[in-house]
Amino acid sequence: MSDYRIETKCIQSGYEPGNGEARVLPIYQSTTFRYTTSEQMGRLFDLEESGYFYTRLQNPTNDAVAAKICDLEGGVAAMLTSSGQAANFYAIMNIVQAGDHIVCASALYGGTYNLYAHTIRKMGVEATFVDPDCTEEELEAAFQDNTKAVFGESIANPALVVLDFEKFASAAHRHGVPFIVDNTFATPINCRPFEWGADIVTHSTTKYMDGHATCVGGAIVDSGNFDWDAHAEKFPGLTTPDETYHGIVYTQKFGKGAYITKATAQLMRDLGSIQSPQNAFLLNIGLETLHLRMARHCENALKVAEYLKGHDKVAWVSYPSLKGDKYYDMAQKYMPNGTCGVLTFGLKGGRDAAVEMMDKLKMVAIVTHVADARSCVLHPASHTHRQMNEKELLEAGVQPDLIRFSVGIENVEDIIADVEQALR
Ligand SMILES: *Cc1c(COP(=O)(O)O)cnc(C)c1O
Repeated sequence: MSDYRIETKCIQSGYEPGNGEARVLPIYQSTTFRYTTSEQMGRLFDLEESGYFYTRLQNPTNDAVAAKICDLEGGVAAMLTSSGQAANFYAIMNIVQAGDHIVCASALYGGTYNLYAHTIRKMGVEATFVDPDCTEEELEAAFQDNTKAVFGESIANPALVVLDFEKFASAAHRHGVPFIVDNTFATPINCRPFEWGADIVTHSTTKYMDGHATCVGGAIVDSGNFDWDAHAEKFPGLTTPDETYHGIVYTQKFGKGAYITKATAQLMRDLGSIQSPQNAFLLNIGLETLHLRMARHCENALKVAEYLKGHDKVAWVSYPSLKGDKYYDMAQKYMPNGTCGVLTFGLKGGRDAAVEMMDKLKMVAIVTHVADARSCVLHPASHTHRQMNEKELLEAGVQPDLIRFSVGIENVEDIIADVEQALR
């Protein structure tokens, strides 16, 4: 980790050209890499030597961008994935097998809920979902002997619940399992979960990190803090020989790099959800302005939230940086400089009024996206969360009338004017 402040890391981390080399991170648009001896290539395949040989496993452009995200989060190792979904899938699959169990905060992105509630169940891994606002006793009751991880989102999409990191981290650590946090909405600019006890952080880089709605991508970062060997019986994949690599033991051979090395060497090798170097290049350009954009997203979102709160057609507004919000105090504790640019609200006319109002917006677009430079809206009950039944919707913190508003970095007066005409 470098000593630079976070704004400098956005620009400088991950890539340092040598004398006469390209100033800007090059795109290594190459599937493969050349070696002069067969012997050396063999050592790479045995993980005896590190080096590039095939882009499905590793690529220099991707590694530079992963290193920047790693530095922003304050971790020790990181990898890019093809999407946020792949990141959350790998983050769990790297440490579980059929017969295992995980504990998740129930306020989750719809895709992640489906992944953990349904898809990994078909692979024999069960999830128990707990209300993020549960008591310590309720959280304790969710654990089983076969529990291998605890998962939550720093700011839940779209419920905007701010996770009580300390409560979840201490429960996870009491049970000898890692605490995994999806930090997509807060970004490391506003919140660094490792400082609050998280062990692994995931991202959908598709959102603020890319920031311009150009590339789907994901990332996993390891803090290096979780002691796998201290709970070796729970994590045999990391602490016993891997026969597919001639019996190496990841924790012995790679120390603090064990978790990410295993995810790269096994999961990326076998499942192949690599980010394209072209996308990693664009992601890197997005990251260079992340600190500037997050500040403006937060400033605009707070103004829009205050405007909506004072509007007589608006029934409710949820935005964790808004005074009086249910999660205001939690947000002040864990992300005092700001939360995100996303807010939610409902109209007095309910679900039908929500759909009608959205159709009347001119600049603010209806899109299945969130967290990019352009303002946009979505109605989760009709779109991202439409596979969920009424009970699942409420558990995920999604009221049927909820409009998700991703406030962009346009001039805020223009954003408010568009909402005003639509409401009228
Ligand atoms: C969008 C999102 C995901 C999924 O990411 P993709 O890049 O779309 O696969 C996961 N978690 C959160 C919090 C998200 O907002």
